[in-house]
Amino acid sequence: MCGIIGYIGFREAAPVLLQGLKRLEYRGYDSAGVAVFANGGSNDGILVRRSVGKLTNLDRLLHDNPVHGSTGVGHTRWATHGRPSEENAHPHRAGKVVVIHNGIIENYLELRHELQAKGRTFTSETDTEVISHLIDEYVQSGLSFTPATRAALQRLEGAFSVVVLCESEPEKILAAKNATPIVIGLGEGENFVASDIPALLDYTRKVTFLDDGEMAEVTSESVKLS
Ligand code: GLU
Repeated sequence: MCGIIGYIGFREAAPVLLQGLKRLEYRGYDSAGVAVFANGGSNDGILVRRSVGKLTNLDRLLHDNPVHGSTGVGHTRWATHGRPSEENAHPHRAGKVVVIHNGIIENYLELRHELQAKGRTFTSETDTEVISHLIDEYVQSGLSFTPATRAALQRLEGAFSVVVLCESEPEKILAAKNATPIVIGLGEGENFVASDIPALLDYTRKVTFLDDGEMAEVTSESVKLS
């Protein structure tokens, strides 16, 4: 089980993400990473920083190579598919889409072959990378971020939680799950997503849990469940 955290609001995202991941440290991990919308939103794009091993390695990387922005996601990985390495560390990016994932995608090989046949190139050994490519495939075909993510999630088999960013829609984070937990933390002018409550307790005590098959569209001002 990995750790997941997402933030959208007015604070610098990277320290909030690191703090949340520290609170999830008991889960253990092989690597850690963050993705942050750079200040300026879609024009500057999403910046990803990942490093193998303990959270202090990611902390150091972010110190030397900072990311500034107030929307982002963070992940600590407990490897199930692919060795612990930087390439296999989350977040995983494909085109405009960035994904963090907890759990296992059972039909990932079939999806990977399908996406490779469409010309998609994979850079990791993880099951997770099919999710980012699948959502991006739907985005490239003309769907907007939310329906593209919904369409992609319908193709996945297994137990999973995902949190997704899309470069063309920087004002929202999407979260969804099947058989693993996702908790949404509600703030004032800011909102949070996490795999477990301790990640949020420094910021809010108002939380709500996602149900299986439910998707949360999280902006700084609202949380829409559907
Ligand atoms: N199956 C994914 C991987 O191996 C996610 C594992 C996790 O839950 O951390 O990267």
